[in-house]
Amino acid sequence: MTHPFALDMTESGWKEWCTAQGAKPFLGTQILEWIARKDCNEPEKFSNVSSALRAKLIESFDWSLPVIDTLLPSGDGSEKILLKTKDNLFTECVLMPSENRVTLCVSSQVGCRMACTFCQTGKMGLTRHLSRGEILAQVIIANQRLKARGESRRVTNIVFMGMGEPLDNFEEVVSACEVMLDERFFGLSKHKVTVSTSGLVPAIEELGRRVPVSLAISLHSADDEQRSGMMPVNKTYPLTALKDVLLKYPVQTRHGITFEYVMINGVNDSIAHAKKLVKFLHGMKAKVNLIPMNPHPGSTMVATDPERMREFQKYLTDRSIPAPVRYSRGQDVSGACGQLASKRKDELQLAPRTVALARRREWLETRR
Ligand code: SAH
Ligand code: SF4
Repeated sequence: MTHPFALDMTESGWKEWCTAQGAKPFLGTQILEWIARKDCNEPEKFSNVSSALRAKLIESFDWSLPVIDTLLPSGDGSEKILLKTKDNLFTECVLMPSENRVTLCVSSQVGCRMACTFCQTGKMGLTRHLSRGEILAQVIIANQRLKARGESRRVTNIVFMGMGEPLDNFEEVVSACEVMLDERFFGLSKHKVTVSTSGLVPAIEELGRRVPVSLAISLHSADDEQRSGMMPVNKTYPLTALKDVLLKYPVQTRHGITFEYVMINGVNDSIAHAKKLVKFLHGMKAKVNLIPMNPHPGSTMVATDPERMREFQKYLTDRSIPAPVRYSRGQDVSGACGQLASKRKDELQLAPRTVALARRREWLETRR
């Protein structure tokens, strides 16, 4: 019999379990504190829990974390962590320490079904959602990695910008965010947990009602026809519907909603595009992150050159829209935005489909 994954358990789930064992329900909160405050997945170390209950915890749950398959340190100090799930699938997160913060980019799915043309994860298609526990495991593993690197810091900022569309895996992502924000557990500030979405309008509305996280919208074009060509989601939820829901969103940060704008040479980077962008943003408190397109094997799209990028940026800032240029970290190890496709070191130059076929062969081997 397979045991339930301990990290999938919510606080109320732990309390009910404790009650069913004849123990006090508050111990349920303490168990989750060990996991999500002390990054500890070894019940034998839960010193404020009786030895009898510890034994039951060990025999009743699966306490293992996804296995670290490969660590890919980047020249810029970030580190891509390739993880293997229990069913032998690969997922990844990227740890990005800087002077005053430690940001972790987490995945919410294995692959993604949104099929954005410029994104390598989109080329993989969706294999499956990650569970709440598999999302939280990335934070615990990152904190354990920091400790192993001799750092006394823990993760301070989390961005859902790894593999997957977080709002396509809504309940698991919301449940993980609740633990990230709870001051008894990971205790991160609501300004420091950011959910990035391609624009699933009904889910954005529901997110605003459910959990106070910061929101980032992957916009990339303010022209409906062009955006639909780049991001199929726009055919279902066009720009007017997106703007309507954003105008009502309970904003968490000083600068309002963040818009991600990947600058692709000759595609969406002219002043005419900037004009449309300004028009779309009218009436919203917004910041635009300009991200030079990260190249990947099998794609002809490349980044806008710096001069043109500056002109685009100036057009926005002259109209009081903050528009920093953001170079994604971890490019040398395919750890940058849009480059995540579960690759090992020797596979970085391969197209996602080639890797997917290799993975399938590997997976079939494990079932023999
Ligand atoms: N699915 C979510 C979050 C994961 S993608 C979303 O789309 O928002 C994280 C960010 O990387 C998004 O802003 C996405 O548009 C961007 N991205 C995708 N491909 C990219 C590429 N090739 N270069 C730069 N950024 C890219
Ligand atoms: Fe999915 Fe985001 Fe990539 Fe689009 S940009 S395919 S939504 S991961």
